[in-house]
Amino acid sequence: MSEPARQRPPSGPVIVLPPRDPGAPSRRFRLRPGRLFGLLAVCLLLGVALGGVGSRLLEPAPADPALTEENRRLSDELASLRQELNAFREKLATELRAALPEEDPTPSETGPRLAVPIPALSNDEQTVRVALLRSDGDVVLEGQELFLEHTNGVTTPMRGRAVARVNKNGVFVEGVGNAQPGLRVINRLGPIRIGDREFPGTLELHSDQERLLVVNELPLERYLAGVVASEVPGSWGVEAKKAQAVAARTYALMKKADADRAWDLEATVDDQVYSGKPVDGSTRAAVTATHGEVLTRDGYLVSAFYHSTCGGMTELPRDVWPEQPSHGNTAVVGGFCDKSPHARWTVDVSPEQLLSAAARAGHEATQVKGLHVRSRSTSERITAIDLVTDRGTVTWSGQRFRELLGYGKIKSARFEVAVQGGSFRLTGRGFGHGVGMCQWGAQGMSSAGEDYRAILGKYYPGSKIERIY
Ligand SMILES: [Zn+2]
Repeated sequence: MSEPARQRPPSGPVIVLPPRDPGAPSRRFRLRPGRLFGLLAVCLLLGVALGGVGSRLLEPAPADPALTEENRRLSDELASLRQELNAFREKLATELRAALPEEDPTPSETGPRLAVPIPALSNDEQTVRVALLRSDGDVVLEGQELFLEHTNGVTTPMRGRAVARVNKNGVFVEGVGNAQPGLRVINRLGPIRIGDREFPGTLELHSDQERLLVVNELPLERYLAGVVASEVPGSWGVEAKKAQAVAARTYALMKKADADRAWDLEATVDDQVYSGKPVDGSTRAAVTATHGEVLTRDGYLVSAFYHSTCGGMTELPRDVWPEQPSHGNTAVVGGFCDKSPHARWTVDVSPEQLLSAAARAGHEATQVKGLHVRSRSTSERITAIDLVTDRGTVTWSGQRFRELLGYGKIKSARFEVAVQGGSFRLTGRGFGHGVGMCQWGAQGMSSAGEDYRAILGKYYPGSKIERIY
């Protein structure tokens, strides 16, 4: 019996089966209905043939050596096909299971998706690892009962103080010498002080690009209190702080699921600000009241971005970071952030500043001939801007323009350009990338008597607040 399906050259999607024994070549199967039908047809025909053979064998007829041989050959072939079919089924099931989380269960307006399933957490002993600081020089760590714990478990008491830096051999601690990266600094009594800042949990010392990297590992909920205290003023409403806590918790767990290095998050605006400043009572209460609550949508964590001031409308992630996957964000009309000091702003940019920004981006020129907005997103943020120079035109995204000239100087990508004297006058609205929750808007809603569920419902529409531990 011929097997035309197997002998055809492979085409289309291919699944490679693992070899049956080490060294045997792997076999290829095409995921085509034709292939499946071929296999079924083979099985059926073999069944019919074997049935015929079997019924003939039941007859008291003399054994035919040729028929017996054929019978054995067909039986072997059938067993072999069954084995292949089962292996194929298993492989297919495995592939499907692996592929399922990649299915996008959300409407397409959310853009590319970051598939972070809701973590299964049985308790609140979750910890998070934060890259606190990177230093070229000495870092002084203080605590009443300070000691070092080396990676091999050996401990060294430090008499209240450790001075660490990086030298050519890696992490170095005065009075101790060089140590393996990952050396832990622990205070038995309370937090560890660095300058006037205090950090609960343990600190880990690493060498990162010839600088000392200090990573703070601490319980997630304590970290969140530090984030909320650093991200919003202590005088803000408790509902705004609760909304901030839920967004920050969701963001932290999203980053934790994604981390493949010695730390989960940066302690700066690159992720969430965690500065080690004291946590006031209302901030602590806001974190406690939302203990374990995260934002979810369709079974996944929402990519809970947030920013200072939207200036009237929030932004879709894909218009800010086209390459970065995200989940569950929608652009919404704001309208509660008028009291923000960044609601409206004006800044003058000189041709020299534009030329040095262009040089930083690898475009050397000596004269600026124009600055023209080429395109905008739905929220009116600039998605492409042309700088015309004597050496040609460079085009940047609004976010890249901000990065090159300074995020603090160009507060948002939502601005108009006018020529003013020898400079360009930029008149804009809002502060930050504009994605997700508007922090000043959250405070505006809190002042207007809305609770944190209403705030989160506005900025992450379609999401649910779920308590996961
Ligand atoms: Zn706003």
